[in-house]
Amino acid sequence: RKQNDINITALTTSKTPGSEPVKMLNIGSGPAGLSSALYPARANLEPVVLTGMELGGQVSLTHIVENYPGFPEGVGGSELVELFQKQAERFGASVKFDTATEVDLSQHPFRVATYNTEYFADALIISTGATPRHLGVNGETELTGRGVSYCATCDGWFFKEKDVVVVGGGDSALEEALFLTRYADSVTIIHRRDELRAGAILQKRAASNPKIKFIWDTVLTEILGDSAVTGISLKNVKTGESTEKTTDGVFIFIGHLPNNDLFQDQLEMDALGYLVVDRHMHTNVPGVFAAGEIADPIFRQVITSAGMGAAASMQAIHFIEALEDELPEVETIA
Ligand code: NAP
Repeated sequence: RKQNDINITALTTSKTPGSEPVKMLNIGSGPAGLSSALYPARANLEPVVLTGMELGGQVSLTHIVENYPGFPEGVGGSELVELFQKQAERFGASVKFDTATEVDLSQHPFRVATYNTEYFADALIISTGATPRHLGVNGETELTGRGVSYCATCDGWFFKEKDVVVVGGGDSALEEALFLTRYADSVTIIHRRDELRAGAILQKRAASNPKIKFIWDTVLTEILGDSAVTGISLKNVKTGESTEKTTDGVFIFIGHLPNNDLFQDQLEMDALGYLVVDRHMHTNVPGVFAAGEIADPIFRQVITSAGMGAAASMQAIHFIEALEDELPEVETIA
């Protein structure tokens, strides 16, 4: 694997006024980011976690997490995030409600500017996650927050006794559709094929829920409404037939895009924009590690992200130890 040829010169030293030298900086506060602070905190490295705009990331918007071990009855998404945070802070991690705006990986310590501070970090763990993908149809941007939503947990309540549609055929679409049945009178799932991508259990639950209906082989081509959603235009991909349907809400769950803007032209990415890491969670820049959905287009679970965070942080600790020992080369755990 190609490694960037950077010159690792010094451990953290004081820089310009207002700047903060840190041994370990974690960008992102989802399950990967908060888990990756736990091990360094216990190793007295006083990691700093930048929360980004949303403490906890996507899971904090999840109503209930039923597949994270240790919680046989399930646990609320935001409750789980709070527990992750508490546990990391208990050992000395510092969670800052701040967002990275600029990253320079060509120098070491790495420079990370935020709204409030300029950090210089010996090791960096990137856990910036992913953002819901948009359909890109007319009306979508204009009516977001006025009937168009990417989060049933956040907005479901507004659709009490209303009729809504859900776009997508994966686990997210079905899980969120099921959640919406708590409020809405009807939830119509619109899927572009005649077969769902979602797992069997969710399929069974959705199929047996009397409030859920399906429209197959169909794409949404426009969202209608002036000040609020009133309907949608649809096209059957097999027959080519176009129709309109009235609806009060459009919930879109068609996958995610990695939050990689800060790392363009600095870190290796795959064709979809996910950061490329090896099995030690190394990116192509020594001392920069990545964990969670920014580096994982496949599993995208709380447990896998937390596991990646733990693995990345163990390697980052090793990296810092090697720097402190002034080893000529940074070793990794084999
Ligand atoms: P996903 O599995 O990638 O599914 C996206 C769905 O949206 C697919 O059905 C896809 O259709 C459809 N789609 C994509 N682009 C579209 C477009 N432009 N127009 C219309 N439809 C479009 O995404 P996800 O549901 O967010 O799940 C992502 C990962 O998280 C998966 O690995 C999933 O298992 C996991 N997850 C797990 C749980 C759970 O275990 N409880 C819950 C949520 C998510 P096609 O099927 O035709 O491609």
